Amino acid sequence: MPLDNYSQNDKVRHGKNIIIVGVDDLSPDMLMRANKLDLAPTLKNLAENGIQYSRAYTPLGRTSAAWASILSGDSPQEHGSYFNLRDLKNIKKEHFVTFKLRELGYKTIWALDERRFNYMDETFGFDKVVGPKTGLMEFFLKDLTRFPVNNILLQFSFSKKIFPYAYENAGYGTTYNPNGFVRSILSSVQDSDKPIFLAVHFESAHYPWETRPVQKLDDDVKVPNPIMRRALETVAVVDRQVRNLLQGLERQGALDDALVIFLSDHGEGFLETENKVKMENVGFVNIRGYGHGNEVLSDRANHAVLSILHFKNGKIVSLPETRDEQVSLLDIKNTIENYLENGDIHVYPKNACIIVETGKKVGGFGALAAKGNNNLKIIETSLPFYRLNPEGFVYLREDKIKELIASKDIGVRCKDRITYFSPDIGYLVAHALNAEGIPDQLIPPPEEDIARISRYMTGYGLDLPQSTLAIQSPELKQRMLIRDAKQVDIMDNR
Ligand SMILES: [Zn+2]
Repeated sequence: MPLDNYSQNDKVRHGKNIIIVGVDDLSPDMLMRANKLDLAPTLKNLAENGIQYSRAYTPLGRTSAAWASILSGDSPQEHGSYFNLRDLKNIKKEHFVTFKLRELGYKTIWALDERRFNYMDETFGFDKVVGPKTGLMEFFLKDLTRFPVNNILLQFSFSKKIFPYAYENAGYGTTYNPNGFVRSILSSVQDSDKPIFLAVHFESAHYPWETRPVQKLDDDVKVPNPIMRRALETVAVVDRQVRNLLQGLERQGALDDALVIFLSDHGEGFLETENKVKMENVGFVNIRGYGHGNEVLSDRANHAVLSILHFKNGKIVSLPETRDEQVSLLDIKNTIENYLENGDIHVYPKNACIIVETGKKVGGFGALAAKGNNNLKIIETSLPFYRLNPEGFVYLREDKIKELIASKDIGVRCKDRITYFSPDIGYLVAHALNAEGIPDQLIPPPEEDIARISRYMTGYGLDLPQSTLAIQSPELKQRMLIRDAKQVDIMDNR
C-alpha cells in the first residue's frame, strides 16, 4: 500500500484537503434530465468540469454497501456491509482509508443527513460524524405513521420502544432543514488545524422524495412519470446544498488546495423501459429497473455519477476530460492514495470487470408486492428480519443473513456485457451491453464470468446451479417476464 511509505515529514507535504461530495440515488440519466431542466447547475458544473467517468458503476446499489466500498476499496463480501442495517461489529473496517488518513495527520469527517440505512460512525476511522443521531425505527416510520401502527407492532417485543418514537417523528422529511445540515458540516471543518478528509452524503433526493422545499416543476414540463418528477424536484434541493457547501468551504479556505470527488452511490430505476431485448421466435423482453439494489441488470439503477476535480484557491484547476473506460466505486480509495502519492487524480480500475450484486430481497418489496400485498403487509413481513438492540437501534438479525444472501442476484459487469445469476430466474443470464451500457441482446454466458460468479457465490456459502437454459428459449423468456412483472407490481404498491 503506497500510504505505508510516508514518513512524518510527508504529513506537511501532503497536507491537502480531500472532499467527497456524494449524492444519493443519482444516475447519470437523472443528472442529465435535471440539467435539461436547469435544476442542478452546481452538480452540472462539478460533473462537466471534472475528469468525468461516463461508465462508473456501483458494486451494490444500496447506500451503506456502496459507501463501505468507496472508503475501503473492498467488495461487499469483503467488507461485510452487503445489507443495509447490518450490525456494525460484523463489518470489516481495517481497510477504510480513513485510518491511514488519520495517521497522515488528517481530521476525518463523515456527514450524512439521514441515517436510516447507514449507521457508519466514529469506529470507521472518523474523528467527527455530522448528521442526525437517529438509527431508531425511522426505517419503517414513513409508512408506519400512515397506518394503524398498533395493529402491526404489538406483535413484536420491541413495539413499546418504537411507539413513542413513531409519533414524535411523524413529520420527519417535511421538517428536514437542508441548510442546517450544511451549516453543521461547515462548522465541523472550521478551525481545523489539520488537513481535512470530508465525506458528505446528501440523501434528500431519495425515496420518498418528500424533502421540502422542492423546486416545483411547471405543469407543462413533461416528465415520463410522476415519481421521477418528484425525484427531479428534490435534486434541486441537493444542488443548493452542494452549492452552499462549496461556497462555505471556499470561504473557509478549505478549497485552497483540495481534491474533490463528486459521486453518487448508485442510480435509481423509475420503471422506464431502458431497452427491449428481442428473443428469436419468442418476442421481446423489456429491460427496466425499479428502485436500486433490487436487480443488477438495469443501467439506471446501478450507473453512478463520478467526476474528479482539483481545486486551488477556490477554483477548479484540473482540466475537464470525459473518459469512457468502466470504473467503479471500488476504485475511489486507490484514487485518493494515488493523489497523495503523486498528485494524479485519474481513476485506474483495479479490474476491467466488477462483481455486482443486489441487496436484501426476501420479505421486502420483492415477491410480496408481486402477489399484490400492500405496504402494510410488506412491512409486517419484513419486521421479523430485524431486532432492536438495547440502545434502540434496529439491526438485521444475523441468524437470517443466510436466507437473505440466498436471495441476492450476483453477476459480473464488464464494459461490453453483464452476466448474472438471479434466484428469481434460477439460471445464469448474459447480455451484451451497448455503447451506453444498456443491456442489449442475450448472449451465451462467458465461461470466465461463470467462474468468477461461482467463486464469489462460494464466498457467501452459495452454489451456482450448473445447468443453463437455452438463451432464446420460451422458458427463459417466461422466467424473465415473471421477474419483470414483479417489478411492475412493486411500484404500484408504493
Ligand atoms: Zn443510496
